[in-house]
Amino acid sequence: EMVVDHCKRPLSSSLCAIRPLTPPSQDNLRPEVGVKQRKESQIIGLKNFNNWVKSVLITQFGHPALAANPSRGRGHGKVLDMGCGKGGDLMKWSKARIRELLAVDIADVSVDQARTRWQQMRTARFDASFAALDCYTEPLTKAFTPQQLAQPFDVVSMQFCMHYAFETAQKARCMLKNVSEWLRPGGVFLGTVPNADQLLARLDELPPDSEDLSFGNSVYKIRFEERTSRPLFGHRYYFYLQDAVENVPEYIVDWDNFVQMAAQYGLHPVYKKEFHEVFEENKERDEFKALMVRMGVCDASGASSMEDDEWEAVNIYIAFAFEKRQ
Ligand code: SAM
Repeated sequence: EMVVDHCKRPLSSSLCAIRPLTPPSQDNLRPEVGVKQRKESQIIGLKNFNNWVKSVLITQFGHPALAANPSRGRGHGKVLDMGCGKGGDLMKWSKARIRELLAVDIADVSVDQARTRWQQMRTARFDASFAALDCYTEPLTKAFTPQQLAQPFDVVSMQFCMHYAFETAQKARCMLKNVSEWLRPGGVFLGTVPNADQLLARLDELPPDSEDLSFGNSVYKIRFEERTSRPLFGHRYYFYLQDAVENVPEYIVDWDNFVQMAAQYGLHPVYKKEFHEVFEENKERDEFKALMVRMGVCDASGASSMEDDEWEAVNIYIAFAFEKRQ
């Protein structure tokens, strides 16, 4: 019998399509992997599920904001994808029939891959521009011309990447300014981030005398460095996901602090749900049920393709939507 040592497999860069695994600098070092290798991933169920949640979020909150801004025959609405990675959401924007996409990521290799992927799209291609930008320290004007920014966005999307901005207050502010400045009033800001309440509750549950401040299962592991200090910015932990790169630093997003800051940029919360709630809410809705089968989240009989450990790992996240008011 052949024994496959999964732990020694080449690192999968496709993971970035669903989850913040690598600090940006490492992303450039990772090779692109093909669809075949992606399919072999052990956590494919988790990846598919995360993609389904993003689709639900984009459909529920993005589509109405985009539809409010039609333009004859050329699709409707304009989207900014911040932290676009390798362009994992391009098909979702195509299905939303958008007119134009601007996409940025700090990792230039990922940006190139996203652009190539867009160029190779056979169905419903929209106008798109891709640029490398650290959007937590630099303004969008550094990546795009005034002309490209003249028409405001209807939707700004930050999937599995906003929490890196919470390293410092300054980065979080820069990120929020970039989100808000070119978003039209009535436009929406969508995203997915780890659930701080859950991570900290799990930390609190660890035995008081334990020196190892980590928890997780066969799929993921989270490790804190400190038990009691809970700063609003720079509250670091290390995240490991099976199949991916080592432990990478991430930052807690304190929800109330985030909401308070966002309000200063005219952004107000309209939706915040844990992933399992998104699932419960939508699993019986025809449109999203069929999508679950198409995206490989479950088979036609409704049987999930995720192991229990994968299910626990996806439920670390929340999905959110904010509306811009002025
Ligand atoms: N949003 C994509 C998706 O859902 O498939 C990619 C998510 S990936 C897990 C996180 C992304 O955030 C990476 O591509 C990383 O390069 C990007 N990122 C991290 N810090 C960034 C920054 N300061 N500016 C722009 N992008 C950043």
